[in-house]
Amino acid sequence: MALRLTAKVFEKRFCRFCQAAKKFNRAAYSTTTDPTQDAEYSDIVISGGGMVGAAMACALANNKFLKDKKIVLLESQRDTGDFVLPEKYSNRTCALSPATIRLLDSFGAWKEIEAMRCHPVLRMQVWESCSDALITFSNPDMTESLAHIVENDVILAGIMKALKAVKNRVDVRYESKAVSYKIPEGHDPPEQKQPFVEMILNDNKVLRTRLLIGADGMNSEVRKAAKFHTIRRDYGQSAVVATLVLADGPANNTAWQRFLPKGPIAFLPLSDKLSSLVWTTTPEDAKHLLQIPRESFVDAVNDALWNDRDKNAFAGQVFDFYKNLLRTVLPGESNTIRQLPPTVMDVQEGSRAAFPLTLIHASHYVKPRVALVGDAGHRLHPLAGQGVNLGFGDVQCLSDILGRAAYNGSDLGSLPHLLQYETERQRHNVPVMVAIDGLQRLYCNQFTPFVVLRNLGLHTVQSLPFLKNAIINQASV
Ligand SMILES: Cc1cc2nc3c(=O)[nH]c(=O)nc-3n(C[C@H](O)[C@H](O)[C@H](O)COP(=O)(O)OP(=O)(O)OC[C@H]3O[C@@H](n4cnc5c(N)ncnc54)[C@H](O)[C@@H]3O)c2cc1C
Repeated sequence: MALRLTAKVFEKRFCRFCQAAKKFNRAAYSTTTDPTQDAEYSDIVISGGGMVGAAMACALANNKFLKDKKIVLLESQRDTGDFVLPEKYSNRTCALSPATIRLLDSFGAWKEIEAMRCHPVLRMQVWESCSDALITFSNPDMTESLAHIVENDVILAGIMKALKAVKNRVDVRYESKAVSYKIPEGHDPPEQKQPFVEMILNDNKVLRTRLLIGADGMNSEVRKAAKFHTIRRDYGQSAVVATLVLADGPANNTAWQRFLPKGPIAFLPLSDKLSSLVWTTTPEDAKHLLQIPRESFVDAVNDALWNDRDKNAFAGQVFDFYKNLLRTVLPGESNTIRQLPPTVMDVQEGSRAAFPLTLIHASHYVKPRVALVGDAGHRLHPLAGQGVNLGFGDVQCLSDILGRAAYNGSDLGSLPHLLQYETERQRHNVPVMVAIDGLQRLYCNQFTPFVVLRNLGLHTVQSLPFLKNAIINQASV
């Protein structure tokens, strides 16, 4: 009898608990509006219309399995209208890998970019100021390009033109951003109980979506709102960028990078006469480089490329001995052809700028109903020119996986296929990030044993074509 009474009381309380839970669930997902009434619904919302977010929108719009899905792209900046290619080159550029070009080509953006402007890189030469060790990369006969240098504005304009061509597939909203988010929490398929991410936009409208894609850059608000654990390392360095005018010389199709004690200096070919500068140094030096007169800046750049001040005599002797030894062990080892870097004549007026450098990596790229792409998930040192390429890789992968999920009739925001995206991308991105971070640490160290080791390592790779080809292939995917 007592047992039955206890069971009844328990049943009553349990029912009350269930009702309260249902009420709470409803309240959490119908803040200002009812789902079927005032709130707007979209299958996928992309927050951030930079290069990666816009490419995400374009890839989804062209995915045949997502044809019936409603897609919204929110960009906080204003619409600058149809892009008119300025005569003057921009100081913000990216080296695009062959894999990125294939992605852009798949949805028609690459032909738009080619019709505007881009410049091929046929050869790369990397060396350092402490010794004569160097490494060069090129495809056989220098016919195929290793990368293309394109201004960021041109990349974005090419993608937006391609997006316009897929009429009305994506609802692009400028000056629009979420001011608050309600995101499902926990890992016990909460997406089943919580069918939407709900956002209140800056115009007070409520927007619900099955899947929110955070493409809102290194300070991603989506990443913060969804409470992704994030690893950060401030490099204590800044990248000085500028557009350089080169002296007459051979065809400008080599990318040059010289490691200096305070960070690497790189020239990326923009046209026959112009190169884009990315010079990593201390924040104090960066500030100074932005303030000095143009002529002094040009002198400083030429000095950084040519000076012999940092040569380490002991490391040089060990390197010469190793080079000769390798020549006897590997008789076929070709003599490295050292090309002389170009001389800078001038810097374009107003093209100098500096950016602080940070490494950011979200430990996870997905949560129920949320995925991060591009710099929102990972921001890295620009020394290998991989940042946006990794972001475009995310786009390709997530678009393929969402297409398959839609084909199978799955909920787009559910965790199982989002986890496939995370696994696939972290397997690719994490080793790249670790390698670049390792290179940055290795080359900022002037301790002689480090200098010796990196020289020997660099020369070994230079002498073994299969290793170099493996690096080229890895950078192309
Ligand atoms: C000096 C330098 C050189 C580089 N060189 C290379 C290179 O050679 N190759 C390479 O691959 N990478 C390079 N990178 C890295 C590359 O620039 C970045 O990886 C790339 O810009 C990231 O693009 P993204 O679209 O992810 O983010 P972002 O470019 O930051 O775009 C984010 C977008 O989201 C919008 N936004 C922000 N918050 C919100 C919000 N709350 N709601 C809506 N919209 C929002 C912003 O307005 C912006 O349009 C370089 C970086 C630097 C600093």
